[in-house]
Amino acid sequence: MKQVFLRVAVWAVFAVISSFGAFAQQHVHIVGHRGFWKAESAANTQNSIASLRAAGAESLWGSEFDVQLTSDGVAIVNHDPTVRRGAEKLRIDEHTWKELSKLDLANGEKRPTLDSYVAEGAKLTDTRLVVELKPQREPGGGHQREDLLVDETVRILRKYGVFTPGRTVFISFSLYICERLAREYPEFTTQYLEGDLSPAEVKARGINGIDYKYKVFRKHPEWVAEAKALGMSVNTWTVDKEEDILEMIGLGVEYITSDEPLLVRKLLNKRGEYQVEASDLTLVGKLRTDTPKVYNRIDTLAYPGLTRSEISRARMSAGIMVAFRTNAKRISVQTDFEYREGALKSSQLLYSGYDLYIRKDGEWLWAGDGVSKNSDISAPAEIVKAMDGSMHECLLYLPMYSILNSVRIGIDGGAEIYPSENPFRHRVGIFGSSFTHAACASRPGLSYPAIFSRDTGINLLSLGVSGQCKLQPVFARIIADADIDALILDAFSNPKPEEVEERLFPFIETIQAKHPDIPIIFQTTIYREWRNFNTRFIKYEADRYDRCVAKVKEAQKKYKNIYLVYPNATDEWHDTSADGTHPNDRGYILWAHSIEKPVLKILAKYGIK
Ligand code: MG
Repeated sequence: MKQVFLRVAVWAVFAVISSFGAFAQQHVHIVGHRGFWKAESAANTQNSIASLRAAGAESLWGSEFDVQLTSDGVAIVNHDPTVRRGAEKLRIDEHTWKELSKLDLANGEKRPTLDSYVAEGAKLTDTRLVVELKPQREPGGGHQREDLLVDETVRILRKYGVFTPGRTVFISFSLYICERLAREYPEFTTQYLEGDLSPAEVKARGINGIDYKYKVFRKHPEWVAEAKALGMSVNTWTVDKEEDILEMIGLGVEYITSDEPLLVRKLLNKRGEYQVEASDLTLVGKLRTDTPKVYNRIDTLAYPGLTRSEISRARMSAGIMVAFRTNAKRISVQTDFEYREGALKSSQLLYSGYDLYIRKDGEWLWAGDGVSKNSDISAPAEIVKAMDGSMHECLLYLPMYSILNSVRIGIDGGAEIYPSENPFRHRVGIFGSSFTHAACASRPGLSYPAIFSRDTGINLLSLGVSGQCKLQPVFARIIADADIDALILDAFSNPKPEEVEERLFPFIETIQAKHPDIPIIFQTTIYREWRNFNTRFIKYEADRYDRCVAKVKEAQKKYKNIYLVYPNATDEWHDTSADGTHPNDRGYILWAHSIEKPVLKILAKYGIK
């Protein structure tokens, strides 16, 4: 992240005590209207690049701007259909860009084209672009100019890599433009501005959002709930006065577009605990960063052929962390679970809870953990309290066996929270069984990949998939498509030896087709403690171990960059097992320590240090 310590957008909010005593939270996205032009640096110049930068510097959720089209088809950023030249008003659609480009903005900036504006907006990591496409006069009838405006806008957003629903929202007074955007780009949020149609009427035209003047909602307060019930997003403009802002928050709008974004933030803050969506901080540890659902590790729809169990495992948030800095005194987490696994042998904390580490004197020190109660899983889980209020660098581990829609980190009102830089280096994939998935550890931070990363600073991107790690071809493709510098596998704990013998070489070949020069480091499986007295399957286990080792040795002769390391999860007392198969916390700590040296030595040969 380029802007590391910027204040994070506050979407904070506002707690309503429900009949069960739990907190229901509402998020409000703050959008700077025509940028944050009241910032000192923007010198009161709306739609200037300085106002866009100021919105970014405040980490506003979004920065709105208006797009017009010149007579020669250049998209430029301006609110009015006219531009002043002295006492004269020039219609933008009657003048060429060459003529208009000579007229600087009030703050002395060169007049921005959409191209120069988006080039700057693309640099903002926390702030989305809220693009208003202005209705166009159509001298020849039809919608030629509006179509051109849409085409140009899409082209330029694509050029700068921000044509994604996570970075850009569209708004327009033109129904034609909204309908076209909604039809061609349904994954984007498009909000209609005019305020003359009910949410159902807008929805019937395929448009998935409304952005109405606050006075429209004052007249039709029921439209907010109606739109939300229809799954539409609800924005409101231009809300600048305290009483109006509070009224709109009270109605439950999801976005407030304002010339006074800091006042909106202050009013939201005052309402008590303030929450930030974890994905707006820094998410660390994802093998694949291209998932449509941000807390899923894999876009399972992109890989047909996955079984139901594989899909469920691959979508769990195991191994994902949130990196942030905060001076909060207390931290809580509220979760919207898509799936929450009940604890069988492992602890509920591991399955659906959170684990927090804080950096102290350069080392990660455990700080707290928490899990929402079974009786009310939507209630916030308290992670730590009574801290000293100084700024801390935090690393929060997400649940290992749950699938998450939303993770909201709550801090005390008035405290600040910022995304921090990824504390780890490089990108090393790790694919493995329930061992890598940390079954039977007491909490998420005690998986052996997590311990390894904290100890070494190397960024392990974990794809622990419980019993589903069997060298399947589909997982080879998933991993091959990832951006990785090295790969570690705990691949011999689940499959039968004949599966290993059949699948190992094709698996390696799929990885090497995309990553010919990275080290591929296999781990043997570990000694299962049930073998101490249980006499069944001992021969099978020993045979499986030997056949897997033999197959890797064969692979080392056939392929380059293949390694084998021998983890050890036990010690002379053998009290390191939780259930005969899986290690307990001590076992996982031993495992991590046992592979650190050999793995680091291999990685170092490839410049991964
Ligand atoms: Mg506008």
